[in-house]
Amino acid sequence: MKQKFAFVFFFVLFVVAVAFSRQKPKLIVLVSIDQMIPEYFERYDKQLSGGLKRFSAEGIVFTNTTLNYASSETGPGHATISTGSYPATSGILANEWYDPKTLKRVNCAEDSTAKPVDGEGGGFSPKNLVVTALGDWLKAESPVSKVVSVSAKDRAAILMGGKRPNHAFWYDRKSGRMVTSSYYAKAIPEWARKFNEANWVEKNLPGSWWKLKPAGDYEMDGPDELKGEMIWGMSSSFPHQFAIERRNDQILTSPWGDMLVLDFARAAIDAEKLGQRALTDILFIGLSCTDYVGHSFGPNSHEIHDHLLRLDQALGTFISDVEKIAGSGNVLFVLSSDHGVMPLPEHVTNVAKGYARRLLVDSVTVPKVTGLERQLQKELNTSEWLISRNGFLNYEVARKGKFSHRRFEEKVREGLLSIDGIADVFFKRELTGKKTRPRQYLGHFQRSYYAPRGEDFQLLFCENCLPTTRPTGTSHGSAYKYDNHIPLIFMGWGLKPARVTRETHSVDIAPTLARILDVPYPKTVDGSPLSEVRR
Ligand SMILES: [Zn+2]
Repeated sequence: MKQKFAFVFFFVLFVVAVAFSRQKPKLIVLVSIDQMIPEYFERYDKQLSGGLKRFSAEGIVFTNTTLNYASSETGPGHATISTGSYPATSGILANEWYDPKTLKRVNCAEDSTAKPVDGEGGGFSPKNLVVTALGDWLKAESPVSKVVSVSAKDRAAILMGGKRPNHAFWYDRKSGRMVTSSYYAKAIPEWARKFNEANWVEKNLPGSWWKLKPAGDYEMDGPDELKGEMIWGMSSSFPHQFAIERRNDQILTSPWGDMLVLDFARAAIDAEKLGQRALTDILFIGLSCTDYVGHSFGPNSHEIHDHLLRLDQALGTFISDVEKIAGSGNVLFVLSSDHGVMPLPEHVTNVAKGYARRLLVDSVTVPKVTGLERQLQKELNTSEWLISRNGFLNYEVARKGKFSHRRFEEKVREGLLSIDGIADVFFKRELTGKKTRPRQYLGHFQRSYYAPRGEDFQLLFCENCLPTTRPTGTSHGSAYKYDNHIPLIFMGWGLKPARVTRETHSVDIAPTLARILDVPYPKTVDGSPLSEVRR
C-alpha cells in the first residue's frame, strides 16, 4: 500500500513537472539593443545593477553568438532576429541597396504605398521582407495573440514585427512622436495618441546630459575629450547641452531616446493587455540609442559608458514593471543585437596603442577606382562606364571590347585588389554559384547576398580599417568579429542561469522561440532551436 502511494505521489509530481515545463510564457519581450557588444557586460559589470545586470546574472548567456554574415547593418540584423533567416533568404541584404533594374537606391523598409495615419508617419512597411517572421508564425496558430513592435528606428520596429503584427511604431525625429503607417492601422490607437499628446520629450528630456556617476567611475575609459569623437556644441566631452530647436533629434544620441521607447512599450503593455491573458503575446523592443551614441563617440567613450549605466537602470525598472503586470514566471525576456561596432580608430591608436585607421572612401578609394575604370576604358577603347560606384559592372560594353565575362572580372579584381584598403572582391557569380573556390569570408558574403537585389560585386575592406567619409565617429558593416559578435541572453520564465560557449548565430533566435511556443515555422528558416533554452 505504502509503495502504491509513493508511486501515485511521484507520478503526480512527474505530471505536474511536465505540465510546468510545457507551460508557455504569456509574454515574450525581445529587446534588441542596437550596436550592443558582449564586451560591455564584462567591462561595466561592477557598475551595473539594473536590467543589463539581471540579464547577465540571471539569464542563459550565449557567449559566442555571431551574425555569421557580412552585412552587419541594422536592417539585416533585425530581419534576421525575427525571421531566423539570413539576408540571402529574407531579402533584407543591407540597410539600402541599388535596384539592379532601375539603379535607384532602395531603403530596406521603404514603401511608397504606405501612407501617413492621422496625418503622421507613413512611407514604411515590411514590403521588402520576402519571408514571414516569428510573430506571423504565432498568429497563424493563435490569431488572438498580439504582436507589437516598437523602436526609435523604423526599420528595427518594422523588420522585427514581421508581415502582420498588431502594431509597429517608430519615432519621428521631427515631431518627437511615435508614428506608424497605413500598412498597419487606419487610425492611431487611443493609447498611442495619448502618449504623443503628453509630449514625452518636453516633459522628460533634461537641459543637458551629465554623467550619472562620479568622475572616478569613468577613469577606465581614458580621456573624455578625444580626437575622432563627434563634436557636440563646442567639444566632445560632458556635459552635452540639448538645444530646444534640435532636441527631438538630439534625444536619439542620448539615453533618453531609449527611455522614451521603453515608456511607450510600457503604455502598449497596459493598453493592449499584453501578457495578461491565457495565451502568448510578443513585444519586440528596438533600443536604438546605443547605436547613435556609439557611432558618434565610439564604444570606449565616456558617453557610451554613461549611456549604458542609464540604460541599465531604465531597463531594470521596465523589467520589474513587466514582471509585476504579467507575473514574473510568465515572461520570457530575450536580449540581443543587430550588429557590433568597430572601435574608434583614434581610440585604438592613441589609447589602446593598437592598429586601426580610417579609409577615406570619397577622397582616396573612389578616385583610385575611377583611375582603374579609365585604364580599362583605354584597353577596351571605349568611353562608356565600366565600374559603377554602386557595385555594378558593364559586362555588355566589356564584351563588345572582346573581354569575356571572366576576363573582365579578372581585370576588375586585379585592379581593385591593388587599391589600398580593399582586401577581397566577391562577384555575383561567386556569391550565387556552388562551385566557388572556398576562401575566407566567402560564406559570410554568400549568406548576405540576395541575388534579385544584389550588386555585381561586393568589397571586403581590410580588418581594423573604417571605410568612411568623415574624420569623426565610427561604424559597422563588415564581416569581422568586432561587427559580427553580438550578445544573446534568455532570461525569466523559470530559466536557470547558465553560460553557453559553443558557437551560435542570430538566426537561431526565432526558431528557438517558435519551439518554446510550439508553433511550426517555414522550412526556409536557416537557424536551429537552441536546445539549452529549456526549463
Ligand atoms: Zn543597428
